Amino acid sequence: MQAQTLSNLRGEIEFRRKLAELLICPDCLQQTQTEATLQIIAGGLRCPSCSANFPQVEGVQLLLPTDLFRALYPELAASS
Ligand SMILES: [Zn+2]
Repeated sequence: MQAQTLSNLRGEIEFRRKLAELLICPDCLQQTQTEATLQIIAGGLRCPSCSANFPQVEGVQLLLPTDLFRALYPELAASS
């Protein structure tokens, strides 16, 4: 039982890592036309190229350009 739970957890981590590799940074794409892949961090995703953070909000991963995120979620942008 515990081994299966650990196996499921490893599978989920691997899935998230592969998914993050498929996502590109909207800030880099918008500003430099660079397709920078993202890294998983606690609470969301991070661009290693421009250091933009893309948070999860109520369990949903947001992947908005930073200026749009700040316009739509000013209260969250101020706390991040
Ligand atoms: Zn970026």
